[in-house]
Amino acid sequence: MYEKETKPTSKAALKTIVENFGIAEETHTVMCQDTGIHIYYVNIGEKFPKIEGIEETLRKASVRATKEVPLRPNAVNPIVGGNSGDNTGRHIPFINYDFIPGEEYLEITVFPKGGGSENMCALAMLKPGQGIKGIKKFVIDTIINAGGQPCPPVVVGVGIGGGADIALKLAKKQLMRPLGHRHSDPELAKLEEDLLKAINMTGIGSMGLGGNVSTALDVKIEYAHRHPASLPAAVAIQCWAARKSTARIYPDKRVEFLTHKEA
Ligand code: SF4
Repeated sequence: MYEKETKPTSKAALKTIVENFGIAEETHTVMCQDTGIHIYYVNIGEKFPKIEGIEETLRKASVRATKEVPLRPNAVNPIVGGNSGDNTGRHIPFINYDFIPGEEYLEITVFPKGGGSENMCALAMLKPGQGIKGIKKFVIDTIINAGGQPCPPVVVGVGIGGGADIALKLAKKQLMRPLGHRHSDPELAKLEEDLLKAINMTGIGSMGLGGNVSTALDVKIEYAHRHPASLPAAVAIQCWAARKSTARIYPDKRVEFLTHKEA
């Protein structure tokens, strides 16, 4: 993206972002002060022998990471106020569970999600007659409305169908897919590419500074069958600080890190 961007302000912002990655890695400091709210995706192989205690283990992991990295405490009580101070609280960390047919391993992804990009996520309960055209318009309108607020370049996850909650969950889960990965359904793959082009044509650019190619790094879409009367569409936005890490744990306690080297 840095090589392709021609607008000088956006290019400069991209350069800073890339340099920041390197400095954060060298100095073992966080690459953005907002270290997110803690979300986990747990994929359980149907033949994995022991899952008992997973929630408590992940809570402890969040507490330990908050202290040792350190991470900014981001879990605030929305009713009475007050920060828990350790990134845990009611339903936080939030844990998503899925089963993997036939597999023996447990796969855990930690996904700390920044607040600025989360604030720009959106849901629309469209009329079925609005169809794909309506969905495209909603996605583009959401990105234009967000402008520089979600810290572009962004990755955009789109969830279509199901119900309100299902569309939002599908949208956010798409942020787990690697950059450049296309949906296996050719129609969805084409829609991903078309939307990526259209979003970059908005000219928002890196950090909202105006750019030709640096508004979005990618668009990922998934759908669920819908009720005849509804067409839910959801947009989840991930900022440039796209931090996630995945490990696979095998029954013999071997751990394989899929996204990074072991520290
Ligand atoms: S949206 Fe992302 S890059 Fe921006 S402040 Fe939050 S975590 Fe950092």
